[in-house]
Amino acid sequence: MSMSEELKQLRAQVDEINVELLNLLSRRAELTKQIGDVKTAQGVNKFDPVRERDMLDTIVSSNPGPFDNDTMRHLFKQIFKASLDLQQQDHQKALLVSRKRQPENTHVCIGDTLIGAGEKTIVAGPCSVETEEQVMTVARSLKEQGVTLLRGGAFKPRTSPYDFQGLGETGLAILRRAADKYGLKVISEIVNPADMELAARYVDVVQVGARNMQNFELLKAAGDVQLPVFLKRGMSATVEEFLFAAEYIVSKGNSQVMLCERGIRTYEKWTRNTLDISAVPLLKQESHLPVFVDITHSIGRRDIQIPIAKAALAAGADGLMLEVHPDPAVALSDANQQIDIPQFESFMDHMRSAGLIATREE
Ligand code: PEP
Ligand code: MN
Repeated sequence: MSMSEELKQLRAQVDEINVELLNLLSRRAELTKQIGDVKTAQGVNKFDPVRERDMLDTIVSSNPGPFDNDTMRHLFKQIFKASLDLQQQDHQKALLVSRKRQPENTHVCIGDTLIGAGEKTIVAGPCSVETEEQVMTVARSLKEQGVTLLRGGAFKPRTSPYDFQGLGETGLAILRRAADKYGLKVISEIVNPADMELAARYVDVVQVGARNMQNFELLKAAGDVQLPVFLKRGMSATVEEFLFAAEYIVSKGNSQVMLCERGIRTYEKWTRNTLDISAVPLLKQESHLPVFVDITHSIGRRDIQIPIAKAALAAGADGLMLEVHPDPAVALSDANQQIDIPQFESFMDHMRSAGLIATREE
């Protein structure tokens, strides 16, 4: 037999073994998927290091060679890793907020405003509700600009206990009166699960703030309420953790959830947080929920709001949140980052003339 003939025959045997390996790996993968389903049903961890070590020990103890034990361990670890990925992928598929589970976009309807259906939505208002006059002034401007969603904090999660904590129910009542006067809808943060019923009397959308993104009792309470929820990303939360937080709400039966990227903590100091722009297309890709970008808290400065807003919308955001105050210099919270009414008007003009938001109906 010639050398090339021999090589051909050996290669043919290798090809056969490749097919056998392929079939064996596929059979193994099917079994591990079934194991994944059992683990999900039992609520146990997908990754089981003790089981992996036992399997490796058994494999190595009957290793016939010529591969040495370390090489065998390495090869099988790759197979284990691929199987675990498969189990976790299946688990992701099961998430109610995932696009795998629901390919079409969720639309959130707040009054006449339909969110997530193509048109870009603006949510604007002061950081904190301070006085009736302050909120009325902002609400009037929103009305003039064709913005329908008024934000304002009545329960303020402040870093220092000595800082202004918000007006509480009085603040919610001010928001409601201003919104009713100008035909707007109210979005406001709730920090205590026990306040959901109170919220339902005053607000149209419950906000869960960044600091509470993993307050699981609050998320469950938001899932029980009959109102849309505006969920902000925690400042140190991964995109996956963010989606799990949304899952807490949706799994309780409230599917009207909007996600808001509001910047994450990094070493960068020139912005208050670092806007994770990649989170926007990732969230749109992985989830069917509407995605907003908070252009105020993410950057904490006024001078680059327009390019940031453009970037957010170009990345696929369904809307923007921004803080507007009649006199930011004297604001009781976030004085450095809120814009005043003329700045808000010019922001809106800019967005409209760039064709990024719908032109106002006169
Ligand atoms: C807010 O929007 O009022 C707020 C406090 O923002 P965050 O939770 O994103 O810090
Ligand atoms: Mn603020």
